[in-house]
Amino acid sequence: MKRMFIAKNIGFCFGVKRAVETAEKLLEEIPQLYTIGDIVHNPLVIERLKKKGLIICSSVKDVKGDYFLVRSHGLPKKELEELKKNNKKIFDMTCPFVKKIHHYVENFIKRGYHIIIIGNKTHPEVLGIKSCGEKIDVLEDKVDFEKIKSKRLKKVVVIGQTTLNFNDYLQVVKDIVKKIDVKEILVINTICKVTEEREKESMEIAKRVDAVFVLGSKESSNTRKLYETCRKFCSNTFYVENFLDLCKINLNKFKNIGIVSGTSTPNFFINDVIEYFRKKKYEEVK
Ligand code: SF4
Repeated sequence: MKRMFIAKNIGFCFGVKRAVETAEKLLEEIPQLYTIGDIVHNPLVIERLKKKGLIICSSVKDVKGDYFLVRSHGLPKKELEELKKNNKKIFDMTCPFVKKIHHYVENFIKRGYHIIIIGNKTHPEVLGIKSCGEKIDVLEDKVDFEKIKSKRLKKVVVIGQTTLNFNDYLQVVKDIVKKIDVKEILVINTICKVTEEREKESMEIAKRVDAVFVLGSKESSNTRKLYETCRKFCSNTFYVENFLDLCKINLNKFKNIGIVSGTSTPNFFINDVIEYFRKKKYEEVK
């Protein structure tokens, strides 16, 4: 018998679902809705929304219409202020977990702390967090680490990008505590539970199957991390961004398979993939 293990934590996370559903609802009432950057890192979803009237811009100056949606990653403060100044009607779908980080940063800066964000410098979520104050550094690599070390800081708060792997975050935190000489370090666990749970579940699935199919876009940072995690435990780990990817894979060697997804992968695609495997005689293990 061929078996398929489907992750329980699959499809859109709460923050992405909220942003996509709001966009869909708004587009039933208004002809055009503007946003900066993709609402969700998934070309299948973006194509659908574009057909309904979503217009994706790369900067504030390109936003010509009246209605604007802030995606779940958030938006740098300056851009938000500029949009408000231009009288745009703003629907702020910044994920509450990301908003919480903004509040931490603003409050701790007021109390005289310097902020270190562990994460990817160019990621929109990090850019939004960084815009919350002046005394903030992003720590992505060794060069950043040395720069921060040379600053002679007194009080530091460490936070992380929500999609980081917990153990990687912990490792960098340990390095900071060990090698950076400051009077006080506060560490906040800002990693989103949703992504943490997916990582754990994906790891368990990867350990027991012959192949894992990671559904989602390579542009999505949490999908990339799931792929890397699964690959550590199962060498036959495949990215599946679309049906073409799936059809190219020779399934003959695989008796037990696993299906996992990033937080920006839509249910309609997941269901189609499951149906494909059912037709190939894989039975779902409950
Ligand atoms: S992954 Fe977590 S923090 Fe990011 S949008 Fe989803 S729920 Fe929010």
